[in-house]
Amino acid sequence: MHELAIAQSALQQVLREAERAGAGQVSRIVLRVGALSGVETDALRFAFDALLPASPAARAQLEIELVPALARCRDCGHDFAPASDTLFECPRCRAFGAELRSGRELYLVCIDCA
Ligand SMILES: [Zn+2]
Repeated sequence: MHELAIAQSALQQVLREAERAGAGQVSRIVLRVGALSGVETDALRFAFDALLPASPAARAQLEIELVPALARCRDCGHDFAPASDTLFECPRCRAFGAELRSGRELYLVCIDCA
């Protein structure tokens, strides 16, 4: 249950932020998840659904933003969406080893407190 651990640590972060802001309630939680982060957004949402009701952020709305994968070829500089998460073959010049510019991120973007 990879996603459960992620949801737990994200929730802890949310609660810390809310406490620092002196907020009584968290109304919204936004998580940004890269397409290649290996995280199942459905499982992540499910984990939050399980955790939130028993937490001080019980009434928060969860939003998950999916960040598409984007790679840049080291040879020709072409930006493209990689077809798989391990092999980044440039569709223009067929070089391998492009640099992944986005798609692996997983972070808390914002929370709204009331
Ligand atoms: Zn290329």
